[in-house]
Amino acid sequence: MARYIFITGGVVSSLGKGLMAASLAALLQARGYKVRIRKFDPYLNVDPGTMSPYQHGEVYVTDDGAETDLDLGHYERFTGVSARQSDNVTSGRIYRDIIAKERRGDYLGATVQVIPHVTNEIKAFAQADVDGLDFVLCEIGGTVGDIESLPFIEAIRQMRNELGRDQTVFVHVTLVPYIAAAGELKTKPTQHSVKELTALGVQPDILLCRCEHPLPENEQAKIAAFCNVRKEAVIPALDAKSIYAVPLQYHAEGLDYEVLRAFGITPGVAPDLRRWEDILDRQQNPEGEVTIGVVGKYVGLADAYKSLNEALAHGGFANRVKVNINWIDAELFEKGDSDIAAALEPMHAILVPGGFGERGSEGKIAAVRFARERKVPFFGICLGMQMACIEGARNTAGIADASSTEFGPTDEPVVGIITEWMTEEGLQTREAGGDLGGTMRLGAYEARLAGNSHVSGIYGSTVISERHRHRYEVNGAYKEPLEKGGLMFSGMSPDGLLPEIVERPDHPWFIGVQFHPELKSKPFDPHPLFASFIEAAVEQSRLV
Ligand code: GLN
Repeated sequence: MARYIFITGGVVSSLGKGLMAASLAALLQARGYKVRIRKFDPYLNVDPGTMSPYQHGEVYVTDDGAETDLDLGHYERFTGVSARQSDNVTSGRIYRDIIAKERRGDYLGATVQVIPHVTNEIKAFAQADVDGLDFVLCEIGGTVGDIESLPFIEAIRQMRNELGRDQTVFVHVTLVPYIAAAGELKTKPTQHSVKELTALGVQPDILLCRCEHPLPENEQAKIAAFCNVRKEAVIPALDAKSIYAVPLQYHAEGLDYEVLRAFGITPGVAPDLRRWEDILDRQQNPEGEVTIGVVGKYVGLADAYKSLNEALAHGGFANRVKVNINWIDAELFEKGDSDIAAALEPMHAILVPGGFGERGSEGKIAAVRFARERKVPFFGICLGMQMACIEGARNTAGIADASSTEFGPTDEPVVGIITEWMTEEGLQTREAGGDLGGTMRLGAYEARLAGNSHVSGIYGSTVISERHRHRYEVNGAYKEPLEKGGLMFSGMSPDGLLPEIVERPDHPWFIGVQFHPELKSKPFDPHPLFASFIEAAVEQSRLV
């Protein structure tokens, strides 16, 4: 029987509900329970796939090809449980499905309403696909009081009514602000937020109080009294020094204990948290540091490259070094070569990440050239691999006009949509396999690696599966000239038609991948490519 933990947020947004859900799940997992985390997003987009990274941060892609909220990345990194399509739903998707049913006549003439039709869909989503699970954690996006989130709060209220107290627990995350002028912590916003929630029929069982200063016992007691919650269930959540300290800190404050207690479960022996202690130790006590230049477009937006940031840090844990990320706006390089050398010379390695559109592409290509010529470790991801191939075509294969059709019509489409460049025979093969492309290639795909390649050594395997999110591909028709220019096509799709990985055997570390390895890296299981890339950066730091 799966039990449900509903996580709501109050007072303000950005309280770290996602991290809290991920940490609680990790703690329950460390106690031997099977967990899954789900995210309910109240906005009207069907999924975040079309939302700007400026607005919404990274789009996290699952193995089964869903474009989801970046919180699912936290969930997966903290629990190691692969997220699925069925772990993220938006109001937009729910309304779309309901309206499609209504048009088909599925409601048999009934009036379709928020209650019960929308709330039923929400409840069905929460309870689908839960076989074998002990706990399903459901995070409700937004802040209590938002108009958009009302149907979700109503749905979880109904679930409590239907399933009872021993199968549902409500955790409310709030803020206890510190007023410097008065030198006091203020509990009133929390009281108001809980009042708002109870007015909707949801009495929280546990309050997680985010605060910048320690919450004294008397304030904890006051919150408990006003909010109708046991004093022990008012959990102070002081700002943590690192996200990896959060599970340990919440455990020390009794969060997992209180959650089990609220279900009426007698908490057994203490959870085994050694993996978290080890990660924190690696992060807090590095034995060196390296600086990686990331040449991209969405510079200064940590959330736009959330998983990349994390994967680089994980690569640091694997090597016991601190990884500094120096974000460099690719457009700055479009002015002239001298800028490039000045900006990139201090870097121990260079990474060109994924991206969309032409803006900044010439700067990225210039960064690839610098890395290739100066033999600085280079990692190209998705668009970064495409740029590495265009650079190779232009500067090592004599194809001066090499470009991508993503940037407009070109006579030398080294990168293009497969229907633009593949032979009739190739297209038929792919069509038979149900993967013609043209739309976004999303989710996990296998690749075969050349046995004598750098990457097969790094992976320790010649068959891999990685997640994709792209529309364009490196054009197989240019394989020969690119190979003559020193690029090795070391990873291909299983049918041998799509380039998945390129590398330069004459370079200490030069790898481009069409997929997004950062999506699968975990702090306690750093992705081999990132571990190896950071190792190469450490080597480079000894040279410069
Ligand atoms: N814009 C490129 C494409 O669609 C790369 C996408 C990416 O980097 N995620 O193929």
